[in-house]
Amino acid sequence: DSRDFDEEVESVCPFCGVGCQVSIKVKDGKVKYVEGINGPSNEGRLCVKGRFGFDYIHHGHRLTKPLIRREDAPDKGLNVDLNDISTHFREASWEEALEFAANGLVDIRSYYGGQAVAGFGSAKCTNEEAYLFQKLIRQGFKHNNVDHCTRLCHASSVAALQENVGSGAVTASFNEIENADVAIVIGANPTENHPVAATFFKQFAKRGGELIVIDPRAQTGLKRYATHLLQFRPGTDVALLNAVMNVIVEEKLYDRQYIEGFTEGFFEFREHIRAFTPERMSELCGIAPEVIRAVARSFARARAGMIFWGMGVSQHVHGTDNSRCLISLALLCGHVGRPGTGLHPLRGQNNVQGASDAGLIPHVMPDYQSVTDKEVRDLFRHIWRGTELDGSAGLTVVEIMDRVYRGSIRGMYVLGENPAMSDPDVDHARKALAKLDHLVVQDIFLTETAMYADVILPASALPEKHGTVTNTNRTVQMVRRAVPTPGEAREDWKIIVDLANRMGLDWDYDDPHEVFNEMKMSMKSLHHITWNRLETEGAVTYPCKGPDDPGQSVVFGDGFPRRAGRAKFTPARVTPPAEMPDKDFPMILTTGRQLEHWHTGSMTRRATVLDAVEPEANCSLHPSTLRKLGVAPGGKVRLVTRRGEIEIMARADRQVAPDMVFLPFAYVEAAANVLTNPALDPWGKIPEFKYSAVRVEAV
Ligand code: SF4
Repeated sequence: DSRDFDEEVESVCPFCGVGCQVSIKVKDGKVKYVEGINGPSNEGRLCVKGRFGFDYIHHGHRLTKPLIRREDAPDKGLNVDLNDISTHFREASWEEALEFAANGLVDIRSYYGGQAVAGFGSAKCTNEEAYLFQKLIRQGFKHNNVDHCTRLCHASSVAALQENVGSGAVTASFNEIENADVAIVIGANPTENHPVAATFFKQFAKRGGELIVIDPRAQTGLKRYATHLLQFRPGTDVALLNAVMNVIVEEKLYDRQYIEGFTEGFFEFREHIRAFTPERMSELCGIAPEVIRAVARSFARARAGMIFWGMGVSQHVHGTDNSRCLISLALLCGHVGRPGTGLHPLRGQNNVQGASDAGLIPHVMPDYQSVTDKEVRDLFRHIWRGTELDGSAGLTVVEIMDRVYRGSIRGMYVLGENPAMSDPDVDHARKALAKLDHLVVQDIFLTETAMYADVILPASALPEKHGTVTNTNRTVQMVRRAVPTPGEAREDWKIIVDLANRMGLDWDYDDPHEVFNEMKMSMKSLHHITWNRLETEGAVTYPCKGPDDPGQSVVFGDGFPRRAGRAKFTPARVTPPAEMPDKDFPMILTTGRQLEHWHTGSMTRRATVLDAVEPEANCSLHPSTLRKLGVAPGGKVRLVTRRGEIEIMARADRQVAPDMVFLPFAYVEAAANVLTNPALDPWGKIPEFKYSAVRVEAV
């Protein structure tokens, strides 16, 4: 009987940035099943992960006791048997584990200085936990070497948005698509990665909206709803988008009144864009000039147009330039600040927006207030009771791992992140982790990163927490505790507070509610959003104009948070990927997620239904490529790049161009990031996960 439950608790799905609200049905202290409820972003809908993906929290691999590395353990590496971890780790009391964790970090601070310690937080945590984590690093080590997975996700989009619009968040919720005439979806595969958002996109198209899908993969999910499908050559985003804007400029389709009223830099931009004719750019991007013209006219003439993008745009060495182009395109057409218009980078993780807002970023404090601004540091010194703060930007994720490898960072505190799987050129990251003098990992499973730890602190899954999270729409939502943490595992906020106090920080919080109230002291974004409102209403979007306002779905209708209220056009030049195919590595490797598995797979590969549907590491190749290799669909191939090689099952997939390989990054046994290129975008410092030169061989 599916209605056989003791209790139902309203909360938020732990997976993607759509932030679907759920009702968790609990029986005997365990999740029995989950249903979608009427949250603002899902209206009762759920995808397969939200509906069937929760039983990872009851998996036998859950960490239930603190662990300390045994003195006689084998060398650090991915050599721990998950069913018998006693060869590497011994159980410890919380008292001993916390002392050991804190003392190790403090000793490194004493010998080498605070700069020798770094912190990776996580978008899997609540806003309150993210806030406490960055505070611990900034207050405890007096520097800003704290980052999280946004660096690997939308850091370049945020850099471009902050530069040109004045704010890194979306300018309109994805639900605004119902008020649009035309929507561009570029470098995103929402049917797999934001499935519930994709249902709104499909409805929009069914009602007659014009959906323009631009992606190197011919997405079957949105293809039949699209008026235009532009399967362009990977890495040529700037060429294609500049050509679209060239048409708008040459045919004077731009919104002169909007440009004069709300922007700066148009005249220089107009001169810059004249060189990028559709004919010239067509040779680079592979899209016919007449298609480029049709798309440009359609978007520019729309009454209301929106642009959605994903990591296909952001994860390039020119990711910031790609986003600059999308911002310029919207500004040219006046498609910002009205219902049905806007710029929307689709956020990947459940709380990547909230963790960024809470300051889990090396160059900004909470609410994107610069660490270099003395007034900002004075504000936090006041709120944090006299703490001196460092005024220089800290290091980002990949930079931190480089310093670890070279020995100048010797201690790390990692909460819920898995750099041993998620970093580019992961062999380098794993060697770096093995060199650390002291690694503290706080997680729910013995992840690949935890295998390198000196001490492991057993933490809580989202359905075991109380706190707030913020979705891709800027909507702050209440997460409620549905089930207890297993064994001796603890809620993450409590562990951070305990560690901070053992490091001498003298913190005093009894509840996440108190942390939220402290956040409100420095975060204008939380104005009119109270804990009590979230408890009763479940969700409030920022910015919020008053105690009865559910929040603003669309922002910047009356100007931008920049000088004179004007957004900026920033010209972008065509730059090639960091590593082009050649005779040794003739094909293009691109990585991403697939519907059933989320990120490094630590949760979804332990969810029974999801793992049953998609149990085996796989890559996708065009059928003609497989034929040339002499490999049948389902057979094995070897993928080789300059960083390493893996063997993996190959699927025939017509969505992928004949010179491409698509590779999900959830599988440790064929880890995608063994192959990826660590080259960084110079502004967003995001690695080029979407483009590496690769050789494919039959096995
Ligand atoms: Fe969860 Fe995202 Fe699926 Fe919604 S769309 S159920 S938030 S994974």
